[in-house]
Amino acid sequence: MTAILDGRPVAEAIDRATRASVAAVGSGAAPPSLVSVHRGLDSPFRFYLRRQAKAATALGIAFRDVTLEAGDGQSQLVVTLRSLDRDPNVHGVLVEHPLPAPFDFFRAVDELRPEKDVDGVSPRSLGRLVGQHPVHVPAVAQAALAIARHYRLPLDGQATAVVGRSTTVGLPLAVLLASPPPGANAAVTVLHSKSGDLATRLAGARTIFSCVGRPGLLNRASVPEGAHVVDVGVSSIPDPDRPGTQKAVGDADVRSLDGWAASVSPVPGGVGPVTVAELMAATVRSWRILVRGEGGP
Ligand code: NAP
Repeated sequence: MTAILDGRPVAEAIDRATRASVAAVGSGAAPPSLVSVHRGLDSPFRFYLRRQAKAATALGIAFRDVTLEAGDGQSQLVVTLRSLDRDPNVHGVLVEHPLPAPFDFFRAVDELRPEKDVDGVSPRSLGRLVGQHPVHVPAVAQAALAIARHYRLPLDGQATAVVGRSTTVGLPLAVLLASPPPGANAAVTVLHSKSGDLATRLAGARTIFSCVGRPGLLNRASVPEGAHVVDVGVSSIPDPDRPGTQKAVGDADVRSLDGWAASVSPVPGGVGPVTVAELMAATVRSWRILVRGEGGP
């Protein structure tokens, strides 16, 4: 029997704590505020944007989005982020990524001080994570670990694999898992497109975090029997039940893993909702650091 690692109770627990923090702000003060910077509603980011707006509103976080105009380039993005970084009424800023050329995402996002980089993806934020002194950890990495902790997956001292090594997802997750507490003390192997046969590399892994974006990559042939799978990957594929529409799927072939893996997190409904909850929690944490002077770096 393969257990389903439902992300919703994990997200709800994080949201409860966030709601309590927002309530403690009191009615006299401006609420925590999050700004999302993106390329417009034609980009794939729009689904994520709607979820952010809905979650923020439900939690009492002020939310607005800034659209980069057609023709805006790197310098306009930098001007926008500098201005948001200076604005005392903005506590968290999230920038759509990946951004296509001519944008240089990492240079641009480094205009944000680490407190405002609520997704923890700027070079300074990532440096702080490696230096074991993070302000914000990338929300998706924090979310994947939150799911593993909630369901008590074996991590401490255990063979753990991260498939994917991007700077914003796979690598920060691997660092977080390998770090001492509040990291997970896991014995981490990082795999990627050049690391050879996946089944061979995954042999012995007790928990696998898949951060690739390739449907079906994790199946009976690649995953060792009895392993846990936290599926971070999200891909859009045609929905066979609703012709003409798309549906989100993860890297795991859930049917193939059923009865083989010990547990699998679903897509949708796994890491995704927890990532949004972590972003909201980070925004409130920023508010506490920037406005209240609490627990800063
Ligand atoms: P990315 O930049 O495209 O990185 C994908 C990684 O997968 C790369 O490191 C690549 O290796 C590796 N890879 C590709 N094919 C592989 C294979 N056959 N075997 C092993 N590794 C392979 O993507 P990303 O931005 O890191 O995002 C990863 C996934 O997470 C995407 O599906 C994205 O949509 C999803 N995501 C989910 C959330 C969430 O909230 N759930 C948030 C962010 C991202 P190389 O480095 O060698 O190319």
